[in-house]
Amino acid sequence: MIDRNRCEAKEDCLRVCPWNVFEIGVLSRGERRQLSWIGMLKAFGHGHRQAYAVRAADCHACGLCVEACPEKAIRLASAARAG
Ligand code: SF4
Repeated sequence: MIDRNRCEAKEDCLRVCPWNVFEIGVLSRGERRQLSWIGMLKAFGHGHRQAYAVRAADCHACGLCVEACPEKAIRLASAARAG
């Protein structure tokens, strides 16, 4: 699970994930509407780019991305709920 109010697309998760789970994408209009006020400001500041767990089914729950994220934006969840 990636906290959309925290992610700043710094790509640490992409670098550390041994199974290439993440890609950088751009927040949709619907996702932007759900952000907090602070989240909107942060998202605007990095061009609405964020990490997405596009291959969440490949996750081995090693926790490296959770440790690496400087924004504490990632937590592990079951693949059915991951985003
Ligand atoms: S917990 Fe999953 S997504 Fe995170 S680095 Fe490990 S394999 Fe990749």
